[in-house]
Amino acid sequence: MRSRSQNSPVPQGDCGETMRIDVDTDRCCSSGLCVMTAPDVFDQSEDDGTVLLLDAAPPTEFHADVRLAAQACPGCAITVHE
Ligand code: SF4
Repeated sequence: MRSRSQNSPVPQGDCGETMRIDVDTDRCCSSGLCVMTAPDVFDQSEDDGTVLLLDAAPPTEFHADVRLAAQACPGCAITVHE
């Protein structure tokens, strides 16, 4: 039987900083601010404009923009876990 570390290698170049994002579409007022701030992580539904989460665990290079989007979200619909 293989150990857990053999089955879950740590990506090279990753310092271990992880982020997980939750969005609450019931709170989203379709402002689009998150999409403008972090377009690689957020999108909007073509049906009603509510937020779509493209990447719930984005790479480190997007973390600063995701934090900004969460802070600026007028509906407080974005939760960042670090
Ligand atoms: S910034 Fe907030 S309210 Fe605006 S689209 Fe994104 S999740 Fe919805």
